[in-house]
Parts: sequence; structure tokens; C-alpha cells
Amino acid sequence: MLLVLLDNFVTMGLKSLFPTRHKITGRCKMCGNCCREIRMKIAPAFLSSKFFTELVIRWISWLFDFYLIEIDFEHQDLVFSCYHRGEDGKCKNYFWRPSICRNYPLLDYFKKPVFLPGCGYYAED
Ligand code: SF4
Ligand code: SF4
Repeated sequence: MLLVLLDNFVTMGLKSLFPTRHKITGRCKMCGNCCREIRMKIAPAFLSSKFFTELVIRWISWLFDFYLIEIDFEHQDLVFSCYHRGEDGKCKNYFWRPSICRNYPLLDYFKKPVFLPGCGYYAED
């Protein structure tokens, strides 16, 4: 729990210190689509090592309560889902959700953000 709070605090601090070019507006429709299949980029160097890939998977699974669905070697993504996603798509751990969830949709510093189809958020320049 402390780790989650610390992670959230650091992430929010960095976000306010280094604002991104694009802004996100709109609101979450609580459809839960972004929690069903969570894609995380993994560096090719890590992916080529079974040991490091396993280490990353274990770390993410432990830290966020996610579980691995597949390793997408083509796009170099680890694909997770979450134990806290309810049948209705809503988060059952909303108060303690990690920073990766609080900061979704993620804002890249250079690219315009991309949203899942039907998401209630959109980007402004
Ligand atoms: S996909 Fe968009 S609208 Fe749906 S839960 Fe995620 S952030 Fe909310
Ligand atoms: S913790 Fe909640 S918001 Fe985060 S992925 Fe799981 S269900 Fe979604």
C-alpha cells in the first residue's frame, strides 16, 4: 500500500513539474475496456532474455495485481489483465488503484495520445 501511495505521489509531482503538450479532456465512462487488456512495452533486450522477461512479469504482477495474458513478441508488449476488474468492468480497488491506472490515458511528451474505441476521453492540442 505504501509503495502505491509513494508511486502515485511521485508520478503526480512529475506530471505537474513537466506538463505535456497535449491535454486530455472528457471523462471516463467506466466501461472497463482499458482494464481488460493492459499492454506494456518491454525493451527488446529484456524480451530476448527469458530470465529478465520473467522478472519484469513477476514485478508488474506483484506491484499492480495484474496477471499475464500473453507476450506479444511482434509489438514487444507484455499483455496483462487485472484481478480487480469486476464483471461489470468497474474497478473493485478504486481507492488503492496504482498510478498507471490513475494516469490513464497516458500522455506522451511528443506524440498525440491514442484512445481505445468508445473511450470517453479525447485530446486537445
Ligand atoms: S476505456 Fe476510457 S472510458 Fe472506458 S474505462 Fe477506460 S478510461 Fe474510462
Ligand atoms: S486496478 Fe482498477 S483501474 Fe487499475 S487496471 Fe485494475 S481494475 Fe482497472
